[in-house]
Amino acid sequence: MLPRFELYMPETLEEACRLKAKGALPVAGGTDVYVNMHGGKERPAALVDIKGVKELDGVSFSLEKGFEIGALTSHRRIEEWDKIKRYHYALFQGCSQVGSVQIRYRGTVGGNIMNGAPSADSCGPLLACGAEVVVAGPKGERVIPFEKFYTGFKKHDIAEDELLKRILLPVPPENSGTAYYKYTRRGAMDLALLGVSAYLELTEGRVDIARIALTTAATTPVRSYNAESVLAGNKLTDELIIKAAEAVAAEGKPRSSWRSSAEFRVRLLHDLTVTVLHEAAERAGKSFDEKSEPIPAKFYEGQLGLKSAGKEEHECKQSR
Ligand SMILES: Cc1cc2nc3c(=O)[nH]c(=O)nc-3n(C[C@H](O)[C@H](O)[C@H](O)COP(=O)(O)OP(=O)(O)OC[C@H]3O[C@@H](n4cnc5c(N)ncnc54)[C@H](O)[C@@H]3O)c2cc1C
Repeated sequence: MLPRFELYMPETLEEACRLKAKGALPVAGGTDVYVNMHGGKERPAALVDIKGVKELDGVSFSLEKGFEIGALTSHRRIEEWDKIKRYHYALFQGCSQVGSVQIRYRGTVGGNIMNGAPSADSCGPLLACGAEVVVAGPKGERVIPFEKFYTGFKKHDIAEDELLKRILLPVPPENSGTAYYKYTRRGAMDLALLGVSAYLELTEGRVDIARIALTTAATTPVRSYNAESVLAGNKLTDELIIKAAEAVAAEGKPRSSWRSSAEFRVRLLHDLTVTVLHEAAERAGKSFDEKSEPIPAKFYEGQLGLKSAGKEEHECKQSR
């Protein structure tokens, strides 16, 4: 049973922000909020249901402005959006692996960011893809680079009277590619034991820009800046990929939990970095029309050895 609470259902951003400032907890899809209340982790006296606030809803895309994704956009909407697959495949991979289909219809990308979990599946890809977030309140809007939005465990650069309004993503150049790999203990509906996302921009095999983001490797989703600087400006060889993977493993700070020891997570950081860098590099070499196609993951097996995942295993991971 849920504890008793006051429920507000405003239709404007202004009213929603006013209610939040007075202490009401925002609820979008409720897949975190109601679960926490049901389990006794949270007992808010008041909830402000923001689903009716039009300013937080809707998506748009143009080649000039890129993607604008309303905070209320569901994971399912992202998963089914052909343009996301074409330009930001890693985000498709992240959103399509959240929970079950039912959870993806209900849960929002805004809620995934704001719950602050280090395991949030959309957040590593958003970091790798160069996202910005827009927060809005009575003083207007602020645009914040996503990597600066987390200020600590479950903490964000957002004021009491502000709400997350939109997520912005650029249109990447054709010589770029992305990938996300989520490692789970079981094949269905599980949180990431560890996740690595990569974005690469390559010119004639040389790395122009690299972004690597880690899920469940610190108190928040984080970028691995050391590994990125190992890659930037250099020819992308197998040896360089191993060096970057070593830098990721050295930089990540995963903890032990009932899901896994910290040592195993560090090992995964290394091996999954090799996997996603290969996949992102392969996608970078493809035309936009071909980037939407899945690429079977290649797993690291000892120094430079790579093994392709079986087709069935790959399809299972992608379709969840
Ligand atoms: C069975 C199950 C499986 C799951 N599996 C996964 C998984 O595999 N991967 C994963 O990443 N997550 C998973 N989740 C967690 C959850 O579904 C996601 O985090 C989801 O994206 C949350 O979105 P929501 O709209 O339901 O958020 P809500 O529960 O409505 O809100 C979450 C938090 O964000 C705040 N919030 C929401 N919107 C805003 C806004 N616009 N501005 C400011 N604050 C806001 C709320 O106050 C709350 O603190 C799972 C949950 C369940 C129940």
